[in-house]
Amino acid sequence: MNTNYHTIIIGGGAAGFFTAINLAERLPEAKIAILERGKDVLQKVRISGGGRCNVTHAEFIPKELSLNYPRGEKELLGPFHSFMTGDTIAWFEERGVTLKIEEDGRMFPTTDSSQTIINCFLELAQKFNIEILTSHNVTSINKEENWNVYTKEEQFACENLVITAGSSPKVWEMMRELGHSIERAVPSLFTFNIVDKKITELAGIALEATVEIPKLKLESQGPLLITHWGFSGPAILKMSAWGARDLNQSDYKFDVVINWLNHISRQDCYETLIAQRSSKRQVGNEWLFDLPKRLWKFLVASINLTEKNWADCSNNDLQNLATVLTASTFSINGKSTFKEEFVTAGGVDLKEINFKTFASKKQENLYLAGEVLNIDAITGGFNFQNAWTGGWMIAQSIDD
Ligand SMILES: Cc1cc2nc3c(=O)[nH]c(=O)nc-3n(C[C@H](O)[C@H](O)[C@H](O)COP(=O)(O)OP(=O)(O)OC[C@H]3O[C@@H](n4cnc5c(N)ncnc54)[C@H](O)[C@@H]3O)c2cc1C
Repeated sequence: MNTNYHTIIIGGGAAGFFTAINLAERLPEAKIAILERGKDVLQKVRISGGGRCNVTHAEFIPKELSLNYPRGEKELLGPFHSFMTGDTIAWFEERGVTLKIEEDGRMFPTTDSSQTIINCFLELAQKFNIEILTSHNVTSINKEENWNVYTKEEQFACENLVITAGSSPKVWEMMRELGHSIERAVPSLFTFNIVDKKITELAGIALEATVEIPKLKLESQGPLLITHWGFSGPAILKMSAWGARDLNQSDYKFDVVINWLNHISRQDCYETLIAQRSSKRQVGNEWLFDLPKRLWKFLVASINLTEKNWADCSNNDLQNLATVLTASTFSINGKSTFKEEFVTAGGVDLKEINFKTFASKKQENLYLAGEVLNIDAITGGFNFQNAWTGGWMIAQSIDD
């Protein structure tokens, strides 16, 4: 039996390492181990951000930052006042890793390599004598005076137990046995597969649009990308995250309504079209509203107006055109993974966590951070920020 651990951390990912290093910096004498089931640690960090690791997002107002978390918005607001983007940047900078901001706000190491983050963590873990035990799959835990943690071959005992095992159904089951409730896991961050593939001829077109799913009362606005299989881009990814549960319930079959003119209403659009009647040109050859030409031609053709002159268009023609421009409806059936990046919505119920410490309200000396909790964000570096914030808070909270 391996005894006398001050703290054992289950899961050698982003949240696990951030907890271990910050705790070891605060309590250098504490005996700390990370138990990781895989042969290697930090596997998700390695592949994250296309191998570049999108560490955080350049949003420096706690309230604004919290708005990027469909699950966790309310709970993370307090913790963000203790540790958020600026602290993350400074933390890495003080340890020799400089981050840079890209145009869309995503932040990466200046080396553009996730290995920089991994090296930083591994060097610090070694410096502070944190034991990293790979191929240690935790199969059960229980509590007597101390925590007992079991792998197939070994048993460990520790005063404090930290769960940073990500989206692991087995670990969620262990948490359930300790009295926690688990929100069922469903996918988040995905793109939509379209039924009628005609519009996919326009793959590659991107524009600002408003997207609605009336049946589920979901609405999203932002860049929309037409792909070979349907729709993607920030407007869709945001919707997939905010609607993760409802979309799962609908079995990913629903209608989306797209306003290609973004904020322009149907009525304002119609009035612009009426004014266009003074033109003698064909509707298909005179595109309005700065829409991409190919998209204009596609929409106009869908209601057979391509060769009609503007002057000959009836009110009804222009009503139809206003409808396809501001409320095109497409049937969706299924989803696709976004750039291999996926996140799970679900996990330990947030009501059962004290967000001043990230401690369990169900068990003493038990702490949880990262994706094991029912917290997830839209794409952009926010998911790692959740792992850093939780890990840091735990490291400040555990007793000597
Ligand atoms: C391809 C991809 C790219 C991504 N890119 C980004 C990005 O650029 N920016 C961003 O913010 N987010 C990104 N994400 C999301 C981000 O990676 C996760 O939110 C984050 O890794 C969660 O950290 P975590 O420590 O909670 O869990 P994980 O990183 O999943 O770590 C959990 C660890 O626990 C271990 N474990 C599980 N069960 C056991 C057990 N029983 N015993 C021992 N060990 C166990 C696992 O093997 C794993 O190593 C990406 C996700 C994917 C899939």
